[in-house]
Amino acid sequence: MTYETDGKTMYLAEQIDELKAQGLFNTIRTIESAMDGRIIVDGHEVLNFCANNYLGLANHPRLKEAAKKAIDQYGIGPGAVRTIAGTMSLHKQLEQRLAEFKHAEAVITLQSGFTANLATIPALVGKGDVIFSDALNHASIIDGCRLSRATIVGYEHNNTDDLRRKIAETTEYGRRLIVSDGVFSMDGDIAPLPELYEIAKAHDILLMVDDAHGEGVLGRGGRGIVDHFDLHGKVDIEVGTMSKAFGVVGGIVAGKQVIIDWIRQRGRPFLFSSAMTVPDAAACLEAVEILEESDELVERLWSNAALFKREMTALGFDIGHSATPIVPVMLGEASLAQQFSKKLFENGVFAMAIGFPTVAKGKARIRVMNTAAHSQSDIEQALTAFESVGKELGVIGS
Ligand code: PMP
Repeated sequence: MTYETDGKTMYLAEQIDELKAQGLFNTIRTIESAMDGRIIVDGHEVLNFCANNYLGLANHPRLKEAAKKAIDQYGIGPGAVRTIAGTMSLHKQLEQRLAEFKHAEAVITLQSGFTANLATIPALVGKGDVIFSDALNHASIIDGCRLSRATIVGYEHNNTDDLRRKIAETTEYGRRLIVSDGVFSMDGDIAPLPELYEIAKAHDILLMVDDAHGEGVLGRGGRGIVDHFDLHGKVDIEVGTMSKAFGVVGGIVAGKQVIIDWIRQRGRPFLFSSAMTVPDAAACLEAVEILEESDELVERLWSNAALFKREMTALGFDIGHSATPIVPVMLGEASLAQQFSKKLFENGVFAMAIGFPTVAKGKARIRVMNTAAHSQSDIEQALTAFESVGKELGVIGS
């Protein structure tokens, strides 16, 4: 596409051209079906390994039914922000069920995981305070930290020795916060939460984990990273999202009642942006019910991922060090990753190439999101496609 630009917008067209030349321009595919293990993309049915729909709930009949019923009772929209228009019983019920599910004292929901971080971090710390933040933390944590105006001290990814060093070196501060992703979404590795807790406790520092990719995936029956490490009541704040394993959209902040009550008073996306919609809240509530009833979906997710990882390693692919169902297929150059993804698509597999700035330059990859929505034969079909494209492009031996 050529853009009509003027003096003020020319630089944008130039930057877009530059992205295209580097193989870093995002082209977004159009999906013409429900989000599921198999989807229709640009008129073709393909296996879907892009979505964070870990448990296959995005198109689950019970969630759809719950959303429809709730619309009949409550309509669609929440009307305004909750502090102004009042809050629906549905949202309160969701927060209570989530707190029970996660064994947390209290929960507040927000519009998304992104806004949950923007609401939480600036509510807890501000100017004169300090945040210790993992170097690979998600963009929404980084933005939450920046918005707070606290000093941000990065520590090396998952390196608790470096964290200890940085804490010892940082002598001027008001309040302190340690924040980390729970599961790192590009590599699938898990934060050393028990050690982070010991450090936070020893230094009397607030501890926050963003468990977006662990919600519905880690812990007993998908209760998240705090449950996985049995740290209930010890991690001060556990942020989560309902846009991934829960199959809907919405943010969660779980923690002590005093923290949640404070976010209700001072979390800006809570105070100045409307609540989740009615069908979203109702569908999320049904997702919690499904997870409470059985761990079948969580088990299927993990066994699919184990099969995929085992066979990809046997084929000779470098799949990094994931400890979760996220599988990075490491390819190096962004252009190779894009070509690989394109060829996979031609072989009936939709799996995204990820490059800079989402991951470091030279670390481009195909990120494979295994889900419970896939059957064993879906996984086998995907493996066949990876093998054939891998050989064709010389990534694995033939
Ligand atoms: N935090 C982390 C760690 C994430 O991976 C994501 C999603 N990529 C988010 C927050 C944002 O979640 P949401 O899509 O619900 O805004």
